[in-house]
Amino acid sequence: MVDLKTQYQQLKPEIDQAIQEVIDSTAFIGGPAVNRFKESLQQYLGAKHVIPCANGTDALQIALMAAGLQPGDEVIVPAFTYVATAEVIALLQLKPVMVDADPHTFNLTAEIFEAAITPRTPAVLPVHLFGQSCDMGPIMQVAEKHGIWVIEDNAQAIGADYTYPDGRTVKTGTIGHIGCTSFYPSKNLGAYGDGGAMYTNDDALAAKLHMIANHGQVRRYYHDLVGCNSRLDGIQAAILDVKLKHLDRYAAQRHQAAAYYDNAFAGIAGLRTPARQHNSTHVFHQYTLLVDGGRRDALAEYLQTKSIPTMIYYPLPLYDQEAFKPFTDITFLPVTDHLCKGVISLPMHTELTEEQLAYISDGVASFF
Ligand SMILES: *Cc1c(COP(=O)(O)O)cnc(C)c1O
Repeated sequence: MVDLKTQYQQLKPEIDQAIQEVIDSTAFIGGPAVNRFKESLQQYLGAKHVIPCANGTDALQIALMAAGLQPGDEVIVPAFTYVATAEVIALLQLKPVMVDADPHTFNLTAEIFEAAITPRTPAVLPVHLFGQSCDMGPIMQVAEKHGIWVIEDNAQAIGADYTYPDGRTVKTGTIGHIGCTSFYPSKNLGAYGDGGAMYTNDDALAAKLHMIANHGQVRRYYHDLVGCNSRLDGIQAAILDVKLKHLDRYAAQRHQAAAYYDNAFAGIAGLRTPARQHNSTHVFHQYTLLVDGGRRDALAEYLQTKSIPTMIYYPLPLYDQEAFKPFTDITFLPVTDHLCKGVISLPMHTELTEEQLAYISDGVASFF
């Protein structure tokens, strides 16, 4: 599904030197490498503040903590996402209100969001699933109308551009009050271990996020809030700073692979290639097909016999997960149910060769 080894080989001199510099400096936690990466990412995203932390799940949790929600408050979250998005809601004793997805982009829409709002809804967590933006303009309008916090889960879409109707273009994650991302190794901007970050354009909020990630302190050993310990280490930051310079090139390579797949599958009945959100670029964290007619699992098994790896993101709606049954009354959402039964993701990364793409595409085509 990914080829991190080849990617490393191509950056080896730069990466090795960056790691060695951190070791030589012994600034293992915080320090110049973390500050440098923070500034690089701020500049890349056009965000006023980037607050690095230990992983993407922590980023979501700290963002919710900074919003100052009360136990029992309702947080709107898609049922078709990675578990982390909803997990942090439950962990903070908030109520995950699971909602359905757009059948084409698989993302949250303003209509779905607005229909789920109650007087106890202080926050929503739109997820830019598989690498393209939710239609954030209308989502922000609904949120502003109701005074709702928007915390973007940008773990899969770092680098994607969203264009407002007036032509203004911004990076995903910088649209809501707080954006959260993950540097898990297989993410589009992946570290060599865990990492994450929050972004915001609000100075006071940035200070609070920073405090919460750092045991609720500004001055050492004086704690104003109950926080947590969530830090990005120097070695990861140094690696990420090198890889950030290549992120747009990586996105272009993913795009090329996606175009190859699109073209190869265009005429196949019963197979739907990824729909594009008209006002977002797609950074293809995943290339996810939708298989009609209940043949998804048969396709996966068939491809396995040809040594073509596939993954199902995600096989089970969050409301069907044992862990979440106590937190939700929802037992069925039609689009989410349909997607969980029909999606299949193909290998998608920056090192796919034309030969590999041809082999994978021929394999898929020969099944139909
Ligand atoms: C990866 C991911 C996360 C969590 O990130 P970690 O760094 O693994 O904690 C959260 N949300 C989504 C949508 C993700 O894909």
